[in-house]
Amino acid sequence: EVHLQPYFQSIVEKVSPALKEHHLELFLECSAGLYAQIDPIRFEQVILNLLDNARKYSEPFTKISLIVSEESGKTHIKVIDQGRGIPEEDLPRIFERFYRVDKSRARSLGGTGLGLAIVKQLVESHGGTVAVTSSKYAGTTFEIVL
Ligand code: ATP
Ligand code: MG
Repeated sequence: EVHLQPYFQSIVEKVSPALKEHHLELFLECSAGLYAQIDPIRFEQVILNLLDNARKYSEPFTKISLIVSEESGKTHIKVIDQGRGIPEEDLPRIFERFYRVDKSRARSLGGTGLGLAIVKQLVESHGGTVAVTSSKYAGTTFEIVL
């Protein structure tokens, strides 16, 4: 069992310098006293992939939130950004390997389109689910339920 507040706090401390360089601020909301059955190393990869996306697909001076809560005995983890959003027609496919919304070879943002496939695989290996809601311009929310 992992004590979630210090666990997520240490992830936030790890990634905040890189986010600051992009003028992005990361806020953590996690009550004390929450625990979950996770593999700390593998699950960190889930959060890092989601935060990496939030960084890549957001404009400077916006915020990213990591919100952890417990509802009816389940752990909910949300990563919320105020970035460019994902067009509705792409949403069903973003968890597929190599799927990227911007297919142009000239795109400036690096990546292979594997990040979310790994997220989905790791979350499911924890017996959890991951879902996305997004609207163009308003931002994107990924929600994991364990
Ligand atoms: P990689 O993660 O392998 O570096 P990637 O970021 O392109 O590459 P994924 O993380 O799998 O790949 O994401 C797939 C696609 O979904 C992205 O290319 C992007 O178009 C879209 N996407 C993912 N997260 C967000 C987000 N937070 N905001 C807007 N678009 C996103
Ligand atoms: Mg990615």
